[in-house]
Amino acid sequence: MRRPRQVTFIHPRHRRPYFWMILPGVALMLVWWLTTSNASLYEPDNQEKIPPVASPEAQVTVVSSSRLAAHLTPVPTIDVPDWLEITIKAGDTLDGLFQEYQLNRDHLQSILSSAHRSHFQSLPAGHYLTVHTDQEGHINELMLELNFDEELYVSREMTGFSSQIRARPVKTRLIRTEAIVTHSLYETAKKHRIPTNFITEMLDIFRWDVDFARSVQAGDVLRVVYEQRENDSQQQQAGPLLAVEFINRGQSYRAVRYIDPTGHISYYTPEGQGLRKAFLRNPVEYARLSSTFGQRRHPILNRFRQHNGVDYAAPTGTPVMATGEGTVKTLERQRGYGRVIVLSHVGGYQTLYAHLSKFASSLRVGDSVQQGQVIGYVGRSGLATGSHLHYEFHVDGVHHDPLTVKLPHTLPLPESQQAHFFQQIQPYLAQLDPTSNRLASHQSPVRYNKPLSAQIYQN
Ligand SMILES: [Zn+2]
Repeated sequence: MRRPRQVTFIHPRHRRPYFWMILPGVALMLVWWLTTSNASLYEPDNQEKIPPVASPEAQVTVVSSSRLAAHLTPVPTIDVPDWLEITIKAGDTLDGLFQEYQLNRDHLQSILSSAHRSHFQSLPAGHYLTVHTDQEGHINELMLELNFDEELYVSREMTGFSSQIRARPVKTRLIRTEAIVTHSLYETAKKHRIPTNFITEMLDIFRWDVDFARSVQAGDVLRVVYEQRENDSQQQQAGPLLAVEFINRGQSYRAVRYIDPTGHISYYTPEGQGLRKAFLRNPVEYARLSSTFGQRRHPILNRFRQHNGVDYAAPTGTPVMATGEGTVKTLERQRGYGRVIVLSHVGGYQTLYAHLSKFASSLRVGDSVQQGQVIGYVGRSGLATGSHLHYEFHVDGVHHDPLTVKLPHTLPLPESQQAHFFQQIQPYLAQLDPTSNRLASHQSPVRYNKPLSAQIYQN
């Protein structure tokens, strides 16, 4: 008969604390037995008749398994059950394993007709299959590892077998790691055993604030707080990134993860500000900047005058995007600007898009537009020497350089959610910076204080 592999017999009473009290005595007996007998230490063929607790054969094969302990149900002391823990190998079938371990064939048929039988069709290699039998090889319970969180649980009932997918016990704890950047961010993360997918997430979270391609330097500091999950097989999984801080050239950027009452998940500054900016920097992608903001000689009028925006040279028909969420204030044809759109945004901001070849179809004055929405197409309508977009950025009616103006964050959380927000993020933030008591100063919400005022623009 083949020797079973990786079989573990765990006597239920061994999982109780007093097992450890009798262990020294058992060890002494074992030494005595080893010196007086030349019997093999491991005799799995004796599995059908495991002697009571004092037998050396039974003792030496005991291993502790918190996974099994977690599923332990009280068992009558008369009927001593066996637990077979099998690590599935590639190509194993339930049928083959039942043969190998001489398990009840009738039960096999019954299990293979249970509701979750599809999970037995191809057994996942490397996963565990735990079988709880009585002394006659009758199956009482069977557990098949499905994934990190779940297992298939089959149990014998009066009428047959019932099956269910049930959660495995998972413990979670918060992990905080700090790393000084030495090489690349990814290499630094690896060196400090920070999951590298957190770096990818961080690049996304701070993409509006940090130029990761150019400004990261040695000495920058990375701090992450995340959840680490451990299941009953002591497998570990890094959970979501809960808080992150990146100190780039002395400037600190922080974000915390927040799940709002509707279940929506997003990252915010510790003050409750969205991390996205309210405006895209450029309304056209991949366009060449052909004229900057400020004094210049007007190409057509041939005299010095203020250029109130920037020009992007791009082929006629290139889509023009709304740089921020807002409403259409102006959509008309003018002499200088040609086809022009003016968008009005919350907080006293306006953006202007001129010389368009056409407007987005169905766009009307008063319509709401989203950030990134195509509102028109590059052209050369009005006073223009070539096909280009003239783009202006107004703050409270004053023209600003669209390339350098400080862009505001998106709207903060609604006031109704702020108490919930601060309560949820407090433990993460405390982990990020244990010595800081800054949280107290973060209780007051930050919001736009610019009035919504009438705007002016000129060409
Ligand atoms: Zn211009």
